[in-house]
Amino acid sequence: MNIILNGASGSGKGSMAALLVRDFGLVHISTGDLFRENMAKKTELGKKVESYVSTGKWVPDEVTIAVLLDRIKQPDCKKGVILDGFPRTLNQAKALKAVLDVDLVIAIDVTDEIVQARLGGRYMCRKCGTIHAARWDKIDKCKKCGGELYQRDDDKAEFIQKRLENFKQNNAEILDFYRADNKLFVVHDKLENTPEDTYRAVKDVVAKL
Ligand code: ADP
Ligand code: ZN
Repeated sequence: MNIILNGASGSGKGSMAALLVRDFGLVHISTGDLFRENMAKKTELGKKVESYVSTGKWVPDEVTIAVLLDRIKQPDCKKGVILDGFPRTLNQAKALKAVLDVDLVIAIDVTDEIVQARLGGRYMCRKCGTIHAARWDKIDKCKKCGGELYQRDDDKAEFIQKRLENFKQNNAEILDFYRADNKLFVVHDKLENTPEDTYRAVKDVVAKL
């Protein structure tokens, strides 16, 4: 079973993915994580994508598609994958269709207000990578490991709106693409919802696959 998680930055894709991994044993693949890992290790790929990722610009299709197709070829992906952050362009969706049977696309529909609120307050642990809503929790250390918290460069206010506009522009045709294939399930999120609330509807749909 292969699933795509679709949604703007800050829509809660990462949390949703973690819950799906827990319940269905799929492999979570986030193109953003792949890029950041490579940047941290200073690989060739890392150097190539750094200027894009740190300013919230999209990595060119050619690079992104090659990285993703290479990852899903690995043997662990045979048990099924959850793609998080891919595809973001119609090109990427078409390239994926040629090599992977997608069973379901879960689109998390959020308002601009939710995205602004969540991303502006999102901090990551330098040590273990856990994401915290530090602005509201009023914490300055990681709750899991005590590590230092920092704000990702691309979560700074000036980049949030730009990313959101970019997302919306491209996403309409991606949703059309999967709707035409009868693969699309849209779930609506609310600011007061916890990830578990939103997940409940998703879990029912996935369990029926
Ligand atoms: P977010 O969901 O907050 O945008 P991600 O971790 O998904 O964060 O992605 C971080 C960055 O990685 C993006 O801003 C972009 O530069 C790059 N990236 C990730 N996935 C893609 C993709 N499918 N196409 C192009 N660039 C991507
Ligand atoms: Zn930590």
